[in-house]
Amino acid sequence: MKTLALFGSTGSIGTSTLDIVRARPDDFKVKALTAHSNWEKLAEQAREFSPDIVVISNEAYQAQLKEVLEGSKIEVLAGEAALIEVAKIDIDLHIAAIVGIAGLKPVFSAVKAGNDVALANKEALVCAGDLLLSEAKKNNVNILPVDSEHNAIFQVFDQNSRDSISKVILTASGGPFRTKNRADLSAVTRDQALKHPNWSMGAKISIDSATMANKALEMIEAVYLFDLRPEELEVVIHPQSLIHSMVEYKDGSVLAQMGAPDMKTPIGYALNWPSRGEVNSQRLDFTKVLNFEFYPVDYDRFHTVDLMRDIIKTDLNKAIVFNAANEIAVDAFLKQKIAFLEIEPMIQECLEHIEVLPINTIDDVFALDLETRHYAHDIVMTNRIKAGTG
Ligand code: NAD
Ligand code: MG
Repeated sequence: MKTLALFGSTGSIGTSTLDIVRARPDDFKVKALTAHSNWEKLAEQAREFSPDIVVISNEAYQAQLKEVLEGSKIEVLAGEAALIEVAKIDIDLHIAAIVGIAGLKPVFSAVKAGNDVALANKEALVCAGDLLLSEAKKNNVNILPVDSEHNAIFQVFDQNSRDSISKVILTASGGPFRTKNRADLSAVTRDQALKHPNWSMGAKISIDSATMANKALEMIEAVYLFDLRPEELEVVIHPQSLIHSMVEYKDGSVLAQMGAPDMKTPIGYALNWPSRGEVNSQRLDFTKVLNFEFYPVDYDRFHTVDLMRDIIKTDLNKAIVFNAANEIAVDAFLKQKIAFLEIEPMIQECLEHIEVLPINTIDDVFALDLETRHYAHDIVMTNRIKAGTG
């Protein structure tokens, strides 16, 4: 029996994780569940899975949650401080499924407490990769990548033959606008951007997939997780999302991991690790025609990937600025305050304007994050980005 703490239980990754747990009640026991504001869904999950503790990070909903769970033995806590405290409880695996940099403090707390982490929350690694990984090393903590690409690489990257690896190839679906040109992109709507062709995901990562900022974040995620030099990382468009990423060895062999586009496979891999166990995920059907196509990335169309290539070559800490600017831009786009093509120039302007000083602590990360948020917010309020179609 493995004990789990699931942070971000009401989201897309959170509910997929609970689908796996529901099917294997003798193998997994959830001790803690957390959500930000969806207290009804959190209460429903709490009734079904009977954790010891639930945390609602938005304190405004604590009273409602307490009331509906009255009479149960479940402890109801609220606020960010509770999130950080509960991340320390004694469990076998912390599942980091909060979206955005909001997930960083809880993950850091879990790692400090010596809890192994199944990491979906890529933004935590993007913003604090060095700090998080050195803390993990210090505490003998395993960080298991849940992001499908990094989970794929993890499965085929032979750590014992690191010297024989020539490069890592991240696959990208290209998102819903893969075949559109820049002129077409100027008029795309929120609903079109939210509709990913292969994956069903939360709102933020869906928009990130449409701008390819998701792939940009994943590039730096890969650099940290697998300790890659810039020239050891390549991105390729693979519209079917069946091969989830690849590792090329110096002898020319390319090892790939494939599977249906269903996050339950990588989540289940992390839950079962270090062994492999039954996961109730979708399967590939080889009795039908399956196409595997690969195309080079069009860097002129997807500037986010290009911006991140530059960050990886110059200063990884600039990714904190990239991430914060992107979070504000995506939020503004979802609220229909900016157009789709204004997301990229907002990130670019923040990167050009904000000075990045050395980052030594988590507080340094949050200071830079906050400075960028203020600046990006100001760009939205003053409506000064002019979306280029070129
Ligand atoms: P989501 O929006 O569906 O769910 C986010 C979860 O985080 C919810 O439970 C929400 O309550 C919680 N949350 C939101 N804001 C919070 C805050 N300020 N404080 C505390 N909790 C907060 O997101 P998702 O699609 O499940 O993605 C979660 C993470 O996993 C993201 O980092 C994403 O990039 C990564 N990821 C997701 C997928 C996917 O298929 N959905 C794939 C790969 C990686
Ligand atoms: Mg991914």
